[in-house]
Amino acid sequence: MEIKVFKFGGASVNSAEGVKNVVTILGKYPGNHIVVVVSAMAKTTNALEELLSCYLSGNTAAAEKQFHRIKEFHFTTVDTLFHEKDHPVFKDLEQQFMKLKGIIRPRKKISSVNNVYNSEYDRVVSFGEVFSSLIMDHYLVSCGIGSKLFDASKLILTDTAHRDAKVDWPETSARIRNVMMCYFGENGRRRKVAVVQGFIGGDPSGATTTLGREGSDYSAAIFAYALGTKEVTIWKDVPGVMNADPKWFGNARKLDSLSYREAIELAYFGASVIHPKTIKPLENANITLKVKSFLRPELPGTSVKNIKRWKVPFPIYIRKQNQVLISLSPRDFSFILEENLSDIFNILARHHIRVNVMQNSAISFSFCVDEDPALENGCLAALQEDYLVRFNKGLDLFTIRHYNQQAIDKTVKGRKVLLEQKTRNTVHLVLR
Ligand code: ASP
Ligand code: MG
Repeated sequence: MEIKVFKFGGASVNSAEGVKNVVTILGKYPGNHIVVVVSAMAKTTNALEELLSCYLSGNTAAAEKQFHRIKEFHFTTVDTLFHEKDHPVFKDLEQQFMKLKGIIRPRKKISSVNNVYNSEYDRVVSFGEVFSSLIMDHYLVSCGIGSKLFDASKLILTDTAHRDAKVDWPETSARIRNVMMCYFGENGRRRKVAVVQGFIGGDPSGATTTLGREGSDYSAAIFAYALGTKEVTIWKDVPGVMNADPKWFGNARKLDSLSYREAIELAYFGASVIHPKTIKPLENANITLKVKSFLRPELPGTSVKNIKRWKVPFPIYIRKQNQVLISLSPRDFSFILEENLSDIFNILARHHIRVNVMQNSAISFSFCVDEDPALENGCLAALQEDYLVRFNKGLDLFTIRHYNQQAIDKTVKGRKVLLEQKTRNTVHLVLR
């Protein structure tokens, strides 16, 4: 029986209805074994980040409140899904909440840039996926589906770079293959489902790590790669990959297909529909990525695959909000030279600041970055030692792939352009 990998994101499992809808979708694939990679329900990851910041800053009352808010949301969901009140899901979920409760207590102040903080982050924030996968597995079983819950922290081996852990591919592939092939191969012809958390890995000491925000897509790609599947499907609240975010673009249109190369470019420039690390392993193993609507599963969605000459149907717009445009000029009015650039990039790398677009002139270097607390926490000060620093906040960065003048005009619409940069296929516009 062919194995498929399905990833259900937070929006697809944001309520009891969402969890039920997964069963409807699985019902359309009775002839396949399926690995269900699940994200935290709704905005639980953000809620857990808030919980972490409450108790680390010593605000115990706020932490308690936030803990109960998260707990209530999950128990309301299971109350709706399970009618027998002695169903084991209640006990299992309670146990996980007890574990979380044991972790969240006031600590000595932990600086938000070191690995102690990052490992604490992973310990706490990974609970979102632990809760959702546990609920999903129990619910599938209660619907008569042959489902088993797997622990991603034991399957995906990573290094110890918490919050952005790197995957040990050979070991991870071997573990996934051993454990899952064995499960799917057991007693014959019945279709089976394996439920596993997205976003989570484990380091060699067994500590939980995470793969970066929105990393569940990447997890799905890892499972697909390890199992050698033909495709992986990401179920989303949009009909597929759109040429712009429908939330701000009136006339967004769906792309029927995309080359891997184009998908990588889009993800790199900030299109939120696919996690940037997802595509490469799929491309390496020639696995098709399907992006489909969980509300209209019968529609074809978008296929990302190996297309030699992908034909561009229309311009593609990517918007990044909350941008800061920073301009640096050497304090001694000298030219900007290679040494300056390497200094500047060293400082940015030390503070984990990623440059979204950059441009230089003889005596100044301008670049655009996401607004980030690290800027005020030392990064700007370090730059100010040698440079005169000017910056504008609250800007929009638009990237238009395969642009034309009409697409640019439509985007600018009378706003002030602070930076414009064109290459053959791409234009960047920083707008106030
Ligand atoms: N729950 C994680 C996040 O929201 C991972 C994911 O959804 O992909 O970042
Ligand atoms: Mg999420």
